[in-house]
Amino acid sequence: MLIETHAHLNDKAFDADRKEVIARAAGLGVSKIVEIACAPGEWAQGEALAAAFPDKVRCAFGVHPEYTKTLTSSLMAELDGFMAKPCAVALGEVGLDYWWDVGTKEEQLALLETQLPLCGRFSKPAVFHARNGKTPAQNAYADLLEALKKWSYRPANKFRGVLHCFSGGWADARAGLDLGLLLGVNGTFTYKNNHDLRETVRKAGLDNIVLETDCPYLPPQSARGKRNDPSFIPEIAAMLATHFGVGNSVVADRTAANAFELFGVF
Ligand SMILES: [Zn+2]
Repeated sequence: MLIETHAHLNDKAFDADRKEVIARAAGLGVSKIVEIACAPGEWAQGEALAAAFPDKVRCAFGVHPEYTKTLTSSLMAELDGFMAKPCAVALGEVGLDYWWDVGTKEEQLALLETQLPLCGRFSKPAVFHARNGKTPAQNAYADLLEALKKWSYRPANKFRGVLHCFSGGWADARAGLDLGLLLGVNGTFTYKNNHDLRETVRKAGLDNIVLETDCPYLPPQSARGKRNDPSFIPEIAAMLATHFGVGNSVVADRTAANAFELFGVF
C-alpha cells in the first residue's frame, strides 16, 4: 500500500475529474490520501471530499502562511471546529514562506504560534511548510526549526509532524529529525539536478520519510510541466527504491508504516 500524505485535490485543476483521479491512484496502489485544506475557504471542501471517500481520504486543516494577513479570530474559532471533525488527521499546512511576500517573519510566526496549540489540544501532528527566500539570509527552514525547538521545549507542547516537500539541506533535516519530524519526499526528489536532496534523503533513511505529491504542483521528472496527481506516487517510490537499493515493496511498506504512525490508521 502506498500513502499520499500531501494532496490539494480541492484545487480547481481537479474540478473536471476529481473522483476519477482518486480512483486511478487507488488502482495503482495509492489507497490512502491526506488532503491538505490549508485556507479557510477549503476546510468545508476538504471535509466533503473525505465524506465522499470515507475509506480513502482524510484531511489536514490549517492556515497556510500565504494567509498571514487575512486570518481573523473568528476564523480561528472555525478552524478549531474542523480540527475536531472525525476526518481531521493533522494541523496543516502551516509554517513560513519567504519566497512570496506574504508577511514579515514576525507576522508569519505569530500565525504559526496561534495554530500550534491545536496539535496538543486535538492530539494531532502538524504538516509544516517552509520555503526559503531569494537570498541566503531568508532561511525559512532555520527560522521554522528554531521556533519549533523553542515551542516544544515545554513537555506539554511536544508534537509530531512532517517537513512537507522537504527542500532543505542536511543540517535542516538533522534538526527536524531531532525534533521528531519526518521528511515529506515528492516529485522534486526525481528532478535531474537534485543530487543534494537525494543525498540528504539517503542520510535521513527510510524510517524518516513519507511520500507525497503536493499536487497539482511539482510533478515528477517524467511529467514536468503537467498537472501532478496522486497517481505519480508509485514513480516517486520507485526512484526511492532504486536510490536505497531495495525493492519497491520495501519503500511502500516502510513509508506507509511511517505515515500511519504519524497520522493514525485510516
Ligand atoms: Zn501543499
